[in-house]
Amino acid sequence: MNLILMGLPGAGKGTQAEKIIEKYQIPHISTGDMFRSAIKEGTDLGKKAKSFMDKGELVPDEVTVGIVRERLGKDDCKNGYLLDGFPRTLKQAEALEDLLAELNAPIDYVVHIDVPKEKLLDRLTGRRVCPTCGATYHVIFNPPKVAETCDHDGATLNQREDDQPETVANRIEVNLEQTQPLLDFYHEKGNLVTINGDQDINDVFEDVDKKLQTLR
Ligand code: ADP
Ligand code: ADP
Repeated sequence: MNLILMGLPGAGKGTQAEKIIEKYQIPHISTGDMFRSAIKEGTDLGKKAKSFMDKGELVPDEVTVGIVRERLGKDDCKNGYLLDGFPRTLKQAEALEDLLAELNAPIDYVVHIDVPKEKLLDRLTGRRVCPTCGATYHVIFNPPKVAETCDHDGATLNQREDDQPETVANRIEVNLEQTQPLLDFYHEKGNLVTINGDQDINDVFEDVDKKLQTLR
């Protein structure tokens, strides 16, 4: 099962990805997560990415395509993959087409989680993440059992640096501009599946899953 998750920041890509990978046992490849761990580890890649991420801007295509190329080449992607947050530009989508042709691993579905723009600010500013396992919560819409504590491992939850209201607004704008041409690209290729992301988390997953069942 070869999948791409698309949607504006806060649409619920990470949240749905957690559920998809648990059920279908494919690796979750999130460029945002890869950049955040590189920053944490202080690598050259992290240093390059940080200045863009802090402003809510996109990291340059050549850097991003490079890390995806390396990751998709790993053995665990042979049985499928779930790309989350990549591609985000037409240039990235074109580079991905070439790469997937080389790997003989074409995309089955591009799952677009569609949420009205006005809902995103509240979702992003209320987002909390576990620093150890990466699980995503929301202070109101998906709270942990104990406030500010991860259900899985008890770690104290964090707020992402780029989830401050000032950065969020820019991130949404940057992504809005970039997303439509990508949706058109995959629609024309016939891969696009649009899911209503403006419903309860479990209902969104039910709709996604119904579609994925058709691939089995
Ligand atoms: P993305 O990866 O697309 O940026 P996330 O999955 O991190 O989005 O979700 C953003 C925030 O919104 C998180 O706090 C998450 O718990 C919350 N969230 C995700 N899906 C829903 C939903 N269907 N309804 C309400 N809140 C949601
Ligand atoms: P979200 O969908 O919640 O905005 P991500 O974790 O996917 O967050 O991305 C966080 C940041 O990482 C983005 O704002 C951007 O700076 C960088 N990034 C992630 N994926 C890409 C990509 N495909 N191309 C360029 N920059 C990216």
